[in-house]
Amino acid sequence: MIRTRFAPSPSGRLHLGHAYAAWFAWNAALRADGEFLLRIEDLDQTRSRVEYEAGIIEDLIWLGCHWHGAVVRQSERAPAHQEYLTKLIDLGHVYPCFCTRRDILREIAAAGNAPHGPSGPIYPGTCRSIPREESKERIASGENHALRLNIIQAAQEAGPIRWKDIDAGTFEAKPERFGDIILARKDAPAAYHLAVVIDDAASGVTLVTRGDDLLAATDIQVLLQRLLGLPQPLYHHHRLLLGSNGKRLAKRDQSATIQSLREAGYSPDEVLNKCQI
Ligand code: GLU
Repeated sequence: MIRTRFAPSPSGRLHLGHAYAAWFAWNAALRADGEFLLRIEDLDQTRSRVEYEAGIIEDLIWLGCHWHGAVVRQSERAPAHQEYLTKLIDLGHVYPCFCTRRDILREIAAAGNAPHGPSGPIYPGTCRSIPREESKERIASGENHALRLNIIQAAQEAGPIRWKDIDAGTFEAKPERFGDIILARKDAPAAYHLAVVIDDAASGVTLVTRGDDLLAATDIQVLLQRLLGLPQPLYHHHRLLLGSNGKRLAKRDQSATIQSLREAGYSPDEVLNKCQI
């Protein structure tokens, strides 16, 4: 059975790009007589707001993208996130990182020709070799830290991983390109990549549909699935909608919000047609 999901962050009103993503997932489930789920990705406490969550729900109902079952809120999934994080720690692939953003930028600038991954310069690995005893003392003394995945070690242990996108084909994952990604921070007990794989698996999602800005990062997510013994879904990345300036639509593009289009008199079908052009 096909089960898809739409996973917006409640940090603004939905715009045409979100309507397209929601419709894409909803339609994939509908065509296969499957189920479409709604998950609110509200782990970023500083940007998430309950009124935006209410707005998302209002807009989806108006558009006719009806989801199956209860809405999942990622912030309520902390015990599961913690359990899987502990599993990664026990596997020996996680280390504490005490670098501030400024430390990292300084180090990258000093290196001159710092290696870049698909999402920018990669973490130089400064804290990877801190002796365990020293890390323990620094944590015990209250020093702020994040937890990072030793990605080369983890990828070596996981072995070759292939994954499939319905349009783009089969990929051989190369997660090392991203460097040692952050898995958890003090203010976010599970970072996006970790939370998304845990929550998709827990909801039995079999087909992940989302914007193609996340295509490359799927390499990280299939690695985490392999390490954690979670099933790998099928993927279908879709194009991102562009605004009149040729740039991808952003939350600040008020004119394209579903709410503003509704208030301007557009019908749900007209909005869905508009986002599929
Ligand atoms: N919350 C993510 C976003 O809004 C969704 C990521 C995903 O679908 O995996 O881009």
